[in-house]
Amino acid sequence: MRSYTLIAPAKINLYLEILGDRPDGYHELAMVLQSINLTDKINLRSISTDTIRVHCEHPQVPMDKSNLAYRAAALMTAEFPAAFAQYGGVEITIQKQIPIAAGLAGGSTDAAAVLVGLDLLWKLGLTQSELQELAAQLGSDVPFCVAGGTAIATGRGDQLSPLPSLDNLYVVLGKYRSLTVSTPWAYQTYRQQFGSSYVTDTQSLESRARAVHSEAIVKAIIHEDGVEIGQRLHNDLERVVLPEYPQVLQLRQVFQDNGVLGAMMSGSGPTVFGLCESYAQAQQVQQQVRAAIPDPDLDLWLAQLCSTGIQVASSH
Ligand code: ATP
Repeated sequence: MRSYTLIAPAKINLYLEILGDRPDGYHELAMVLQSINLTDKINLRSISTDTIRVHCEHPQVPMDKSNLAYRAAALMTAEFPAAFAQYGGVEITIQKQIPIAAGLAGGSTDAAAVLVGLDLLWKLGLTQSELQELAAQLGSDVPFCVAGGTAIATGRGDQLSPLPSLDNLYVVLGKYRSLTVSTPWAYQTYRQQFGSSYVTDTQSLESRARAVHSEAIVKAIIHEDGVEIGQRLHNDLERVVLPEYPQVLQLRQVFQDNGVLGAMMSGSGPTVFGLCESYAQAQQVQQQVRAAIPDPDLDLWLAQLCSTGIQVASSH
């Protein structure tokens, strides 16, 4: 095979708690991550020159070495030089559907797709845990994006424990096209404002366990109790993003006023999602939010929660 096309799902956070600082400079987190069927499509093609090329028609996606998909390919060429020498370079084409800098891990899932695709293209036979170890070198969300589904994520977000799938639930997502939030800004601001309440010894299992409050949502997920999940959604980063971006706060309120199971900002935002118990409810919520906020700058998507990470769509 000389070409693979992969489907790369976005993720939302059902839960995000910041516990403290880690010695490596990252935050110690307790999260529940969830894949949704809002996806990018990534094509990988072997080329005869020994270069990595990235194409993407979306104007905000860089096509140079700063693209996370490029960085994933560069990591693979460094880790597997013999395969790179044997199979040559790679052309990566990204069809973007996941909004950029939206808190939906768009770049991370593209990078995960490149790892999975090059493993196939170069016939490396890597295991999922080997792929996830490589993924952790690229970013905290990338290991989750490889496997997808529903998972508890701890550490800096890269230590994963799978949970039962929730693919009978739906979300309506809303994002103002002109609004982006920098993830580093959100975490730094959180540290400045709330750092004094951090757990100081994040290396101690006991002090971490005392600080985590995700038990209730995890129980609700295990019982597939959509109503309870909706009530237990939590994201610490809302404490810094919502006061700074009143539009996001208002959007969250409009979701809540329209009968969703729960509404919350995903990751560092500014995307807000409303959790719905059926496709029909999600369609209705989408129409009602649109009617309440007729602003053409507001994009809305309807997506189903899904139990898969990177998937191969076709090969040639
Ligand atoms: P996270 O939820 O992991 O914080 P995000 O969804 O908020 O991620 P991305 O969409 O990954 O953010 O984009 C963040 C920045 O990364 C963008 O401003 C963009 O310039 C850059 N970037 C690099 N590679 C990609 C890519 N493949 N897709 C989208 N953005 C990319």
